[in-house]
Amino acid sequence: MALKQWLQRGGHWIKQAMPGYCAFCLAPALAGRGWCATCLDELPWNLHACRQCGDPVSHGESLCGYCLIDPPAFSTTQAGLLYQGAIKQLVHDFKFHASPRAGMLLAELMLLTPPDKLGDAFLPVPMTPMHARFRGFNQSHWLAERLNRQLGTPMVSARRIKN
Ligand SMILES: [Zn+2]
Ligand SMILES: [Zn+2]
Repeated sequence: MALKQWLQRGGHWIKQAMPGYCAFCLAPALAGRGWCATCLDELPWNLHACRQCGDPVSHGESLCGYCLIDPPAFSTTQAGLLYQGAIKQLVHDFKFHASPRAGMLLAELMLLTPPDKLGDAFLPVPMTPMHARFRGFNQSHWLAERLNRQLGTPMVSARRIKN
């Protein structure tokens, strides 16, 4: 219920880090974490996902309808959480308001659901110079750096050639 109430209040978490307290509801946090057990439980976990594209599927199915008919060029996708509710709000705040607190929470949450097999490298999505100016920095690069430090998987970079 804690997350639902938080979203009803407008979904603004505590933007200043308050060590020991949940970023969403201010209850005491789990040891070393930015959230409490209740809010963690209520996050939109992607429990049954298409193994190729990561979209939610019915329990027991391994591929979604799109991947059965017209599969994408990539073979697997890991998406532990759905772009909904509190997660949507966190991504929005990180992407458009450059909130470091939101970024830290997203990196911590990504580390809770690492892929079964780590790939060869992290490749942050490159930005156009215009987007880089607008957003201040490349958020996917920032996240990849944190994951690289924790998981040890190397980082590679790419240059965007088309807007
Ligand atoms: Zn909480
Ligand atoms: Zn799919």
